[in-house]
Amino acid sequence: MKVFKFGGASVKDADGVRNVADLLQKVGYQDTCMIVSAMGKTTNALEEVVKQYFEKGDFEKTVHLIEQQHLDLSKELFNGHSDDVCQEVSLFFNDLTSFLRRNKSPNYSYVYDQVVCCGELISTKIISMYLNSIGVINQWLDVRDYIKTDNTYREGKVDWELTKKNIEQLPHTGFYITQGFLGSDTNFFTTTLGREGSDYSGAIFAYCMNADSMTIWKDVPGVLNADPRYFEHTQLLHHISYEEAIELAYYGASVIHPKTLQPLQRKEIPFFVKSFLDPEADGTVVGKGQPLVPQVPCFILKSDQHLIRLSSKDFSFMTEDKLSGVFNQLSAQQIKVNLMQNSAISLSLCVEDKYDNLNQFLADLSNEFNVEHDNHVSLYTIRYFDQNSELLVPTDRELLRQTLRDTLQIVIKN
Ligand code: ADP
Ligand code: ASP
Ligand code: MG
Repeated sequence: MKVFKFGGASVKDADGVRNVADLLQKVGYQDTCMIVSAMGKTTNALEEVVKQYFEKGDFEKTVHLIEQQHLDLSKELFNGHSDDVCQEVSLFFNDLTSFLRRNKSPNYSYVYDQVVCCGELISTKIISMYLNSIGVINQWLDVRDYIKTDNTYREGKVDWELTKKNIEQLPHTGFYITQGFLGSDTNFFTTTLGREGSDYSGAIFAYCMNADSMTIWKDVPGVLNADPRYFEHTQLLHHISYEEAIELAYYGASVIHPKTLQPLQRKEIPFFVKSFLDPEADGTVVGKGQPLVPQVPCFILKSDQHLIRLSSKDFSFMTEDKLSGVFNQLSAQQIKVNLMQNSAISLSLCVEDKYDNLNQFLADLSNEFNVEHDNHVSLYTIRYFDQNSELLVPTDRELLRQTLRDTLQIVIKN
């Protein structure tokens, strides 16, 4: 078996879906498991529905808008033969509205997962029906019957044993289409694996199926030495070792979800990052061997960061027990640390506050520490930096820097 993963950008409109169909016919889809994300920015729109629902806004209007977008796309795609697919689309969104009307749970993350899952469920339904209609025969699977997680809604932790048992039951022939990003807990409630988690879903299937390879199809030629949205003159990385890819993804090279690499590395499954616009081009191979080919500096920019400086109020040392108290709090509040630096009486942290818990965290610490907080900062990470690398970083606004062997990190005020 091989695993393909298509992200939201590849299926953002009817032309995108037709392009995916052409691609499959060109490169082959025999004995393939294809993982697909929600179309375009649907997940963001569904997040808005959840927000409006809890703020007692007009969430039904937003649901209708999202439904209409999927109906329009289906009509264009099926060219006058769209009754069946439109019926499916409307059924999904009616179910979503009635779930929200009936729901009594005040648990934001639980409701979030039951709502945002519609993006992947409906995209795979439309794509599967379209491919079947043009003779690209496939079987649609509900991934929630296969990927099992605990009930940490919005960040489900995979139960590998159960998941493996479920996936192993699938015959290793044919062409399957299923959803990225989703799983289910022991009560069969939907869970999600964290934003941008569909790459990870692909890796879970690849691992459990002992796949021959996994390919993620992107809107870029492969992994580049910097994000082309923010840097000019980027270069394609032809080969990256698993270890180096793990480092790049960890530091924030968002082209690969950071959890994707470990399962693939454990079974040494070759991993390709390729362009859905030029499927026959080589792209990037992630596998065993040299860290980077070509060996060039790689730039990673993380925005929406916070720089925090904690110092003891009584000039006492930043001892291990103080540090462990701070890190326990960070972990409890799901605040991610991207860089840390300490001196005798202070600790500086560059952090990411995905779940809006930072103010609570800082308030809790303010009894024990003096707290300084700089929001709107960015973190630049340069792997394999050289003397010219810093020219690409606005160092006139530098707040902090750290060098670790091959890696230079600089925090910049925006
Ligand atoms: P999808 O969700 O459609 O699978 P993503 O948007 O998550 O795709 O990833 C593709 C995007 O990742 C590219 O459009 C590019 O802007 C960004 N990106 C960030 N870092 C890199 C990098 N080092 N190389 C290539 N693309 C990168
Ligand atoms: N649709 C989800 C998201 O936008 C998962 C993914 O695309 O990987 O986060
Ligand atoms: Mg994505």
